[in-house]
Amino acid sequence: MLTIFGTVALDTTRTPFHTVERTLGGTATFASISASNSTPTSLIGIVGHDFPESYLQLLKDRLDIRGLTISQTEKTFHYDSSFGYDLAKRTTNKTELNVIANYQFTVPEEYIDSEFVYLANNDPVQNMNILKLFSSPKLVICDTMDFWIINKRDDVMKLINKVDGIMLNESEAKLLFKETSTLKCARLLVSNGPSFAVINKGENGSLLFHNNEFYPLPAFPTEIIKDPTGAGDSFGGAFMGYLSQQEKWDSMTLKNAMIYGNIMGSFTIEDYGIQRLVSVKAEDIKKRHQKYKEIFTF
Ligand code: AMP
Repeated sequence: MLTIFGTVALDTTRTPFHTVERTLGGTATFASISASNSTPTSLIGIVGHDFPESYLQLLKDRLDIRGLTISQTEKTFHYDSSFGYDLAKRTTNKTELNVIANYQFTVPEEYIDSEFVYLANNDPVQNMNILKLFSSPKLVICDTMDFWIINKRDDVMKLINKVDGIMLNESEAKLLFKETSTLKCARLLVSNGPSFAVINKGENGSLLFHNNEFYPLPAFPTEIIKDPTGAGDSFGGAFMGYLSQQEKWDSMTLKNAMIYGNIMGSFTIEDYGIQRLVSVKAEDIKKRHQKYKEIFTF
């Protein structure tokens, strides 16, 4: 069983072409919808009294949401960000933690023996606390971002030490170690505990570091880019979803998982919020997988 913990958010996203206000987002939302294409996925998170019923239904249709709490007193986590013409660069306008600020998460009885746990980007202290509540997960992967690196760096480092794999985007990895080389960052991440690190580089693909080897993989080429929000989480969810279906996690398996990560990330950026991700069919994934192999086999 795969359980994903992270934020379930209302996102306001501004691009030079369009603004979407309070649309469904959050790291656990993107990651778990993406993962659910390869395996049944359970979600742990919290939303507030302002969370629309239609979003709740959308999650319910795709996921096991027995781990989703609805607060009657506080508002949903809200993230407001902008992109310029270079959609690779995001500016955070506002992070309103609201309901997630002081919430003590619990793991529902039915999820405790989850073999696979994905700790999507969230407060690293909450991530560490919730991890202790699972009985004996076989594989744990976490993600983090600049907000937590800036505000709780020591806790981010402690969390990284407790997981089997870490995913980060390039600028965040560089911020974490005050380093300019992505390769060095990947090595530093692994020297801190996990057996592998994946660094995402947007349209420049992603880098895996495992067993002292670097494996750079290209992104799936798509000309449609509307909103990159959630691409990293969609990558992470698909990566974890694939790994949860495998017997071992050697370099070859990790590389194959990255291909699915790249493909799901490529869908997410094609529309605002989760719009494209929720319309993806098994056949679409299969087609991009075939295409990916065709393009990159020589
Ligand atoms: P990504 O574009 O993959 O890095 O993640 C985008 C998602 O992260 C958005 O849907 C936001 O709701 C969520 N998010 C933004 N800031 C934070 C934060 N500080 N902690 C957890 N989730 C966040």
